[in-house]
Amino acid sequence: MRQSSEPFKVESDDSMSDDDEGIFVSPTRPSESTRLPADGELTPTNLDPNGDAIVIIPGKNTSTSPAKSFRVSTHVLGLASKIFMQIFGPRHFSAPGTPRIRTIEGVHHRATLDDDDPIAMEVILGILHFKVPEAAAQMDARKLANIAIHCDKYNCTRVIKPYLADWFKEANTILPTTSILPSTGPTSVADDDSSDSDDSDSDDSSDSEDTKLSEQLGFLLLAAHFFRDEKQFKHFSKVVVQNLTPTFSAEWEKDALLKLLSRTMKSKLVDKVKKCQGYLRNDLESGISRLLGHAETHKVRGDLCGKCGVVYSTLPTTRECSDCEFTEFYPSYCSKDSRVGEYVENMKRFGLWSSKRFERCPVSQLTRKVAKLAENIFDDEVHECDGRDKCPLRLELTLLNKAFMKRSDSLEGISLFPLQKSRKRQRDEAN
Ligand SMILES: [Zn+2]
Ligand SMILES: [Zn+2]
Repeated sequence: MRQSSEPFKVESDDSMSDDDEGIFVSPTRPSESTRLPADGELTPTNLDPNGDAIVIIPGKNTSTSPAKSFRVSTHVLGLASKIFMQIFGPRHFSAPGTPRIRTIEGVHHRATLDDDDPIAMEVILGILHFKVPEAAAQMDARKLANIAIHCDKYNCTRVIKPYLADWFKEANTILPTTSILPSTGPTSVADDDSSDSDDSDSDDSSDSEDTKLSEQLGFLLLAAHFFRDEKQFKHFSKVVVQNLTPTFSAEWEKDALLKLLSRTMKSKLVDKVKKCQGYLRNDLESGISRLLGHAETHKVRGDLCGKCGVVYSTLPTTRECSDCEFTEFYPSYCSKDSRVGEYVENMKRFGLWSSKRFERCPVSQLTRKVAKLAENIFDDEVHECDGRDKCPLRLELTLLNKAFMKRSDSLEGISLFPLQKSRKRQRDEAN
């Protein structure tokens, strides 16, 4: 797998063989890109007032990828990374014919990094020159992933490391708290608990939000992967398994950055989600056989219309069913059969009965729904029988809630995946 090559492919050095996988950036054949400002118009960010080179990063020249240029010290860059040493070292950079650029401050050597992200490089080059830019203070998941990819590309993660804990912390807070872990307290199932009878895509409204969460988590996982941060990788892969449905894998394929996550890694995560959903589904279905194991009957408050089955807590004064005008009423019971019926009804009401809808729910959401159900069943308006807290239906939903919580809590992330390196990169690092 060529993980870090595609979107960052750069021109190869003539002296290198054809198996270049795009890691190495050569300044010997500068881009003639028309996106660049003309000589003399360039006002680079001054990272070192005595800097001996101008680094130009054209980006896509859009608001999210604005062209940037920096006055840097090639000596500082060479100390920070062997890859920078290769680009800016004497072998290439001081050689005759090296491209030069005129700025308002004079004539300098220049290097154009065509395929790099200007904002990620602004953060990295700034930190290397002890000038932390504003862009580093407002971290988000995509930016963090981009910085990680560039740190890996230029082999300078160790210089950035002191900032990582804070960046991950900041990026973590942008995740919607309701989507992370199932709450143990009173819960809300939001607007997504429409009945199972509606099997269409009725919950499309939350789709864009889900996609956003899936993207954010993908970027954070990608960042942890390229920073080689075992702890964060384990953490975010766990959050992925708890909070996404298996469709995340296809969504990540659509994004140029997220595509860099290996397919094996993605399928491992998808397997974990599906496996957990399968266990939960099994817990839920086996509830029926457990309910059938309880033969006792409890009196339910109210009387049942003998024709239409409506239950009246107080009979109408006319002693006539207001729905069907039938006049015979019978006592109503919480029995083995009624409990199974009520159990299935409740599952349908919360969108848990149809397997299609079940699979479209992340583990955290399934757990929240069952927690809500278990809480509801103790409401006398929902189910009142003289079995009180010993009613098998109430006991079963309490047990089911505990089982769901336990499965969700015990989910684990995966270990850091190996970084795929190109042969050329391995050679560079060995030198
Ligand atoms: Zn009736
Ligand atoms: Zn009962």
